[in-house]
Amino acid sequence: MKIGIPHSLLYFYYYPLWKTYFETLGFEIITTPPTSKEIVDKGVKNSVPELCVPIKVYIGHVLKLVESEVDFIFVPRFVSIQKGQYFCPKFMGLPEMIRHSFKGIEEKMLMPSIEANDENIATMMNFKIFEEKFGISTKENKLALEKAKRVWISFRAYCREGYSASEASDLAMGKAVEKQLTIESSNNLTIGLVGYVYNIYDPYISLDIFKRLREMGVNVKTFEMLSEAEMNKQLKKLSKNLFWTFSDKLLAAGYSFYENQEIDGLIHVTAFGCGPDSMLGKLLEIDSATYNKPFMTVRVDEHSGENHLQTRIEAFVDMLKRKKMRQKRGA
Ligand code: SF4
Repeated sequence: MKIGIPHSLLYFYYYPLWKTYFETLGFEIITTPPTSKEIVDKGVKNSVPELCVPIKVYIGHVLKLVESEVDFIFVPRFVSIQKGQYFCPKFMGLPEMIRHSFKGIEEKMLMPSIEANDENIATMMNFKIFEEKFGISTKENKLALEKAKRVWISFRAYCREGYSASEASDLAMGKAVEKQLTIESSNNLTIGLVGYVYNIYDPYISLDIFKRLREMGVNVKTFEMLSEAEMNKQLKKLSKNLFWTFSDKLLAAGYSFYENQEIDGLIHVTAFGCGPDSMLGKLLEIDSATYNKPFMTVRVDEHSGENHLQTRIEAFVDMLKRKKMRQKRGA
């Protein structure tokens, strides 16, 4: 039996867990290819204009799976992965949005509700629905979840070592990562890249900003490279948090990067139509002066151009280099 997983949204955070879980139970996993113009166009054409870019892209991936030979499409409803914090409403309503928009899709959809007290979502409560659906025993389910959890923990450990989420995902699933993609910095410059995994690691949405920065010899830090303890420490200092799980992670990462002397500047990657980012980006921008650290916003949409982005990040990196040289000279 084939289960389709859209190569979008939290694929970039939970794919090692999902793939291990379903394959251990004997299912074949089919994923969509990386986001392309065709997928974006499909998503845009079939979405209401008010939706943010990542959700439109996700819809494009789901429709791509509808055209393929899969038996089921995995569209989890993310509610919470941290006590007292919730996902952005667009995540919570995603399965409903899809099943009510496309006739005949509902019977193909697998829609577990993900509710957990921490990031490790491999708990029985979230995956129980598959026992009845596929006639698997609780014991088989438990064993598959334990294996999936081990792989996901290893994914998170690689992230904290400084690998990008894409590299960490490959490493956790036993694939080799090429040497040039590892964590070296040739010009001693480090940038904190603040953005959701589904923006940063989708090369079409972010125009591969992570790779571009590394190709310029810049060391890149992202939120998933930080420890939970560091993020919680930052969140505790705020008089009020943002309430949405991943937005809070980014906010915590932003302040952690501001306080970290090794980080020379911050780039916030945000997608057009994101409500939470309008708060998050503003807060970080306002505080950049307090920490005396350069901050730049890169807003991407369905029509973003490569040349424009390249020019902006080159200018930002040059400015950081000059600032660093001036500081070295004591000016
Ligand atoms: S957090 Fe922003 S980008 Fe992510 S789903 Fe919500 S509105 Fe869209």
